[in-house]
Amino acid sequence: MARYTGPVCRLCRREGLKLYLKGDRCYTDKCAIDRRNYAPGQHGKSRRKLSNYGIQLREKQKVRRYYGISEKQMRKYFEMADKMKGITGENLLKILEMRLDNAVYRLGLASTRAEARQLVTHGHFTVNGKKVDIPSYLVSVGDVIAVKEKSRSSVKFKELIENHQGRVPKWLQFTAEKMEGKVIGEPSREDIELPIEEHLIVELYSK
Ligand code: SF4
Repeated sequence: MARYTGPVCRLCRREGLKLYLKGDRCYTDKCAIDRRNYAPGQHGKSRRKLSNYGIQLREKQKVRRYYGISEKQMRKYFEMADKMKGITGENLLKILEMRLDNAVYRLGLASTRAEARQLVTHGHFTVNGKKVDIPSYLVSVGDVIAVKEKSRSSVKFKELIENHQGRVPKWLQFTAEKMEGKVIGEPSREDIELPIEEHLIVELYSK
């Protein structure tokens, strides 16, 4: 399926929650969810009662949109999560968190996940000293993610470091001077602030 390229605030309004797709703007009173928290479109204000299937589908869409991934990738991650030990829904979120593009965003080295994906694709990052330009690359505990030597002097990264908000989750450790982060643990459910019920996604894919 083609990647969505329309206005991203519509996605938040469709799901009725902040998906943090616009960087700093999401933390200001310009956020569309704070201003118009109803679904976009002509019938957006009239709330329909959803079926069980509809509720499960919406939970899955929230997660897909939050991480910016395709349906095909989402199903692949579900199958991986299902084979792992532990709770499938939590495993699924853990896998999504450990994508390289998400880790770059979580480290504050991009202002949105979409930007992180683009920066990774353009080859600005290394993992354990080697260039990795695959946004879906899954990082592991102990990995060191760094801005490539040549890219460190770019205005983009200098600005990101200067304006760094320090919102780094517990499973990552960030060193601003080196423009690098280390994976010091696996993300736990509490590290994923998205207010969703992941068991509904498991129910949807288990049908
Ligand atoms: Fe979503 Fe951010 Fe737009 Fe608010 S500003 S609606 S959180 S993308």
